[in-house]
Parts: sequence; C-alpha cells; structure tokens
Amino acid sequence: MNKIKPEEEIQDEETRIRRENEENYILKGYFRFAKERYKICMECEAFSKIVKACGECYCFMPAKVIIKSTSCPVGKWGAVDEQESNTIPP
Ligand code: SF4
Repeated sequence: MNKIKPEEEIQDEETRIRRENEENYILKGYFRFAKERYKICMECEAFSKIVKACGECYCFMPAKVIIKSTSCPVGKWGAVDEQESNTIPP
C-alpha cells in the first residue's frame, strides 16, 4: 500500500484540490457509514486535515472509509456488516 506523503511534501495544488473534493464527497453523506466514520477521523488526534490521512495507518481516509471491510487501527470504528444498507441515493 502506498503511504501518504507528509504534509510538507504536498506541494501541488491539483493534489490538494483532488483530496478536498474526495473529502467533500464523503461528507455529503451518500454512504452513511462512510460519513460517520469520517467524522470520527476528523475529531481524531492522528488525522491530518491537510493531507486527509491517518497518522496511524497512513491511509488516505476519504478512500478507506468507503471500504466496508476496513477498520480503524486503534479501534475507534470497525468493519460494516454487509447486510446493512447504508447507501443513500444522491
Ligand atoms: S482511522 Fe482511527 S486512528 Fe486513524 S484517523 Fe481515523 S479514527 Fe484516528
């Protein structure tokens, strides 16, 4: 898995805008479980608001939170039951 670059290495505007857009997609709430997970991350001391990455697993969180089988490395949120219907139509 590719690790997220440290904040000081994020230099190009295109990357920053893409990450902002992906974060906004999650926060619109099309996937309820993803929005709930992401809100927990946004309050977490390990989360980088600039690069949108977790300081524990180094994952890009707007991508990780939409994968149902993933979980927080320190146990703040877990995998989502496949039986749950969390998709909210746009
Ligand atoms: S995955 Fe867990 S440790 Fe990482 S930022 Fe989110 S809540 Fe914090």
